[in-house]
Amino acid sequence: MAKRISIAIDGYSSTGKSTMAKALARKLGYRYIDTGAMYRGITYSAQERGIISSSIAIDALVEMLSDLTLDFRYDESVERSDLFVNDINVEPFIRKNKVASWVSKVAEISEVRRYLVEAQRKMADVGGVVMDGRDIASVVLPQAELKIFMTASPEIRAQRRFQELQEKDSKEAVSLEDVAENLRERDYLDTHREDSPLVQTEDARLLDNSNINMDEQLEIALNWAKEAGA
Ligand code: C5P
Repeated sequence: MAKRISIAIDGYSSTGKSTMAKALARKLGYRYIDTGAMYRGITYSAQERGIISSSIAIDALVEMLSDLTLDFRYDESVERSDLFVNDINVEPFIRKNKVASWVSKVAEISEVRRYLVEAQRKMADVGGVVMDGRDIASVVLPQAELKIFMTASPEIRAQRRFQELQEKDSKEAVSLEDVAENLRERDYLDTHREDSPLVQTEDARLLDNSNINMDEQLEIALNWAKEAGA
């Protein structure tokens, strides 16, 4: 009989993890948890409080964590889960380049990782979740029944991310080269940090979506989920 499994999706930046994770969660009737949004939410909050300007005041940032409550709230009218930090919807702010250019440095701080890993495990402990990030299979949910590692060529990823920024209401003045540079930097920091770097675990299934569309990916992932017991 089908059970409510946990699905971990990791991979490089802008490989379409969240689009895939959301679609998979919807098909299975599972909860989707975007862990990148949580790292972004902390980065944004630190920027708002002047803790990040030309560098990060690490002690102040760690102290700030005890003041924060992070939760996802589902808005049925737009069929979307938004991240709230201390009861404020931060979704409109956390995708901007200002946050993107600092988030991977914030994600290197071990205290931040410990704080978020604990929160993420609590969110997942009921099962029936699709969680995406960088350390989900390796650290947050090592017991996940299905682990997917997503990748795509750097050129395709930069182009997709650039297009996404252009389509947003608040158009940002960034060039394709700026976007590509930010992705290169984040990939480097994410795979080289000391604490829980991005890795493809041995038990993860590789999904390279450079040359396949969303429907094709979803079909592959759904088959894997069924094989894993969903
Ligand atoms: O997934 P997204 O691109 O929104 O994540 C933003 C950043 O947060 C990543 O580049 C990475 O540095 C960090 N992150 C992380 N661990 C996670 C999720 C995100 O370190 N589980």
